[in-house]
Amino acid sequence: MAEGWTRRQVLAQATIAAAVYTLDPHELCCGVNAYAQTAGGESFELKKVGDGVWAAVAAVRYKVNSNAAIIETNDGVVVVDSHSKPSAARALYKEIQAVTKKPVKKIINTHFHWDHWQGNEVYAQANPGLEIIASEKMKAALLRPNSGVGGVPFIETQLKNLPGEIAKLKEDIQKAPDAATKARLENNLQQAESYQQELQSLKPAVPNRTVSQTMSLQEGGREIRLMLLGRGHTDGDLYIYLPREKVVATGDAVVDWMPFMNDGYPEDWGQTVGELEKLDIERIIPGHGEPAPKAHLEKFRGYLTDLVAAVKKAGADGMPLDDMKKKIGDDLAPKYEAYFSRYPVGQYRDRVPVNVEAAYNKLVKKM
Ligand SMILES: [Zn+2]
Ligand SMILES: [Zn+2]
Repeated sequence: MAEGWTRRQVLAQATIAAAVYTLDPHELCCGVNAYAQTAGGESFELKKVGDGVWAAVAAVRYKVNSNAAIIETNDGVVVVDSHSKPSAARALYKEIQAVTKKPVKKIINTHFHWDHWQGNEVYAQANPGLEIIASEKMKAALLRPNSGVGGVPFIETQLKNLPGEIAKLKEDIQKAPDAATKARLENNLQQAESYQQELQSLKPAVPNRTVSQTMSLQEGGREIRLMLLGRGHTDGDLYIYLPREKVVATGDAVVDWMPFMNDGYPEDWGQTVGELEKLDIERIIPGHGEPAPKAHLEKFRGYLTDLVAAVKKAGADGMPLDDMKKKIGDDLAPKYEAYFSRYPVGQYRDRVPVNVEAAYNKLVKKM
């Protein structure tokens, strides 16, 4: 974490969130609840994960940012993902320029969600020849209405929803039980208001190069493999793998907190992560959270497959959804609760009911 969280802060926040806040599933990719303590500015911590390769770990903001991967080549820079807003991409671009003055030649977007591509325009303005690469399916989802929590039409959806969200934050500020809660809400309100302004003038820079199957870029002396391994977090997730450096950037197909499954394919996802595990990997740059060792994949896949099996069984037994949320949450807790609650956001108990519901919709109701 970029911010130092004390255990007491985490507990206090979790208690407040549980007491007064109901999570809206739309906020969860990869959103942060209104009461969370979040960073005041757009900032990233650059962590070296290989020679000329960095994970840019995003500080947690109310209007959340994805991590990025930064890959330096002999003649340029390749950046994976561009966060939720131009101001965040500008902040990272400045950090990149502090480590190398080479031009950013390529942006690769891992998937269509709002918090991974809405900053593309910053790099397009800096370099008119910029290539923006994504999977063919990602680009189709980006341009299609109702793809889920992302895409060009989703910008309008967000703009429609923001006034209500802002009004609710203002109302919550009035009702805040103490100064610390009030300060957190005010910080998040300020973020929501500036986000609204940024969205109003967003110039969506969409991919101008797509891939439909796994291929390798030979990029200034470096091999960058763009891999399509199957459906998971979305249909069209792209994995960016550096075979020599043994580093992979996964977008939200692998995160270091609880996964968001509402636009996902719960049953395929575990298998897809299994495919990823076949690669020779030393470091994972996840879509959110800290860089992780390969062992994280086994835990992440375990959660997905255990969840799917539990929902299928409960569905076959005719268990109502609300009972499922409680029972499966409790049953899987000994294995996963501590592991997936290491951050003040995206925690096990916040998200397990939403994951159960997503899996239930796909596997039992077959929506
Ligand atoms: Zn995300
Ligand atoms: Zn996502």
